[in-house]
Amino acid sequence: MAAEGEEIVKNKQVIFRDYVTGFPSESDMYISSSSLSLKVPGGSKSVLVKNLYLSCDPYLRILMKEVQINSVFASLTPGSPVTGLGVAKVVVSDHPEFKKGDLIWGPTGWEEYSLIKKPEALFKIHHTDVPLSYYTGILGMPGMTAWAGFYEVCSPKKGENVYISAASGAVGQLVGQFAKLMGCYVVGSAGSKEKVELLKNKFGFDEAFNYKEEHDLDAALKRYFPEGIDIYFENVGGKMLDAVLLNMRVNGRIAACGMISQYNLNQPEGVHNLMHIVYNRVHIKGFVVFDYFDQYSKFIDQVLPMIREGKIVYVEDIAEGLENAPQALIGLFSGKNVGKQVVLVAKE
Ligand code: NAP
Repeated sequence: MAAEGEEIVKNKQVIFRDYVTGFPSESDMYISSSSLSLKVPGGSKSVLVKNLYLSCDPYLRILMKEVQINSVFASLTPGSPVTGLGVAKVVVSDHPEFKKGDLIWGPTGWEEYSLIKKPEALFKIHHTDVPLSYYTGILGMPGMTAWAGFYEVCSPKKGENVYISAASGAVGQLVGQFAKLMGCYVVGSAGSKEKVELLKNKFGFDEAFNYKEEHDLDAALKRYFPEGIDIYFENVGGKMLDAVLLNMRVNGRIAACGMISQYNLNQPEGVHNLMHIVYNRVHIKGFVVFDYFDQYSKFIDQVLPMIREGKIVYVEDIAEGLENAPQALIGLFSGKNVGKQVVLVAKE
């Protein structure tokens, strides 16, 4: 029973059922509901938030594996809510730096309300003249990934030839626009005609192609890059990486951002054309966005004006309702999302 003055709410949650091998499915998660008291333990320095938007990101598939062979991620806990990044509003705070009503983005749970035990990991939202959902994408983790990956990891120069795979997604659409603003020749690949149109007509890529319609990826890349690729922004891995290695220019750079084609495989595919890294003195650098989070205010100062001045645009795919979150997440692995996949949990 609730104590006097205590507010009890229903808390719908998306629960992670069990570790996954192979392709994930909606049934790897289920919806549950429980009651929650809107309070935080005194002295805990925690905050209780109401979740507004949740971010569907490919790395969540890696968290569904039982064993992690990396030090970046920790697996999800079966029987507990999925955890990820989101936008939320502080309801109760026991932390001196957060107060009721603050808008934040950062690590939260796939549920209506979450108790955040380490609010230090949250970013406060100061600019609300742009859609709040942008803090799951262009102004959040994927935006920082595109920004740090392109400007820092790729060392781009005006006039260079840039190729981006999974180019219409949360990260890729921004990398292409940053590259165009720098005066590069930009080509992207994506998995449908609709996405190819988006790349060319909405994001201003010079060229784009549907990789699913290309039987010979090497030939496709030679068609769009007769003089070779200076920068490859790698989102996909596997056969695409192999074909790219045959087409890199001398002193080319590859920013290894992610390899989504490998996330559902029990045994990763091999890459055969590695000797071309030697022939062409190619520099390959992997990076993890968390290493750049300390530059968040610099990132905001650069990217927010680009949005306000209409220099860059952002396409989102918003699923409505927490109960649709599993379907939205799974859709990333068959390319159902057109743009950044977001889940709307509640309006502010
Ligand atoms: P996204 O592109 O918005 O969504 C994933 C897209 O990947 C799908 O829409 C689909 O697009 C494509 N895809 C799915 N399965 C594929 C397959 N087997 N082969 C080729 N393409 C496939 O995702 P995002 O958030 O922008 O992430 C893009 C990449 O960046 C991912 O690899 C992710 O893990 C990585 N990432 C890395 C960091 C980091 O810190 N290093 C941070 C964020 C993201 P199509 O329709 O075009 O196939």
